[in-house]
Amino acid sequence: MPLEIDVLTLFPPMVAGPLAESIPARIQDQGLATVRVHDLRQWGLGRHRTVDDYTYGGGAGMVLRVDVVAAALGELRRPESTVILLDPAGEVFRQPVAQALAGTPHLVFLCPRYEGVDERVRALCDRELSIGDYVLTGGELAALVIVDAVIRLLPGAIDAASTAEESFSAGLLEYPQYTRPAEFDGTVVPPVLVSGHHEQVRRWRLRESLRRTLQRRPDLLEGRSLGREEARLLAEVRAEAETAVPEGRAG
Ligand code: SAM
Repeated sequence: MPLEIDVLTLFPPMVAGPLAESIPARIQDQGLATVRVHDLRQWGLGRHRTVDDYTYGGGAGMVLRVDVVAAALGELRRPESTVILLDPAGEVFRQPVAQALAGTPHLVFLCPRYEGVDERVRALCDRELSIGDYVLTGGELAALVIVDAVIRLLPGAIDAASTAEESFSAGLLEYPQYTRPAEFDGTVVPPVLVSGHHEQVRRWRLRESLRRTLQRRPDLLEGRSLGREEARLLAEVRAEAETAVPEGRAG
């Protein structure tokens, strides 16, 4: 069964366009995911199909009405659905969340704009997700980020080896990769990668993955249970980092 996705937005082309290109389009053509984009104004009120209103108590900007959202979800929600509100105050979206969502049958994304939603909308949703600590003009780009990250994890969407080894999948950042030319502007590809020795390549990649994670995202290593090989390689890269001479201090 394909993963079914419904997106509720005031700007359907913003969502439909990017998903009609490249790998997301292929994933849908293969029948692994079905994405339907709905104009929230379908459930808008009155002649002008109004979906938002001024906030009680005053203040700038409009918020999305709860009755409009309830009408839309009344049509789209099914017992197996997960309804996701995009919101800067939501749980920060990370790879384990993408993996969890890829295992569900039906996702509904609600993309507010302007000042956000009437507080009562939250009770109509199952999850609130943020894509990071910054504020966008609307939920569409956030929904696209999440849909893209989720559908590429569906079985058959992408070579399983690539998704297993890439950044965050194993809780580490990915190791450095190279292609031709073997030498560029004085920098050469690490010799082990052209040695043809698979076991040495595997160990080098794990070590460099640990090194990069330690340098750039040490938070990912906190609380991680390490296997014997990982623990040994991490101890080595830590020791190397401690003995490295800082740039400009040589001599
Ligand atoms: N007044 C809101 C606040 O201070 O939290 C911000 C509203 S924002 C201008 C409009 C909409 O963009 C939000 O309701 C949300 O749907 C979306 N949005 C903005 N930043 C986001 C983020 N980091 N992650 C997910 N959605 C976001």
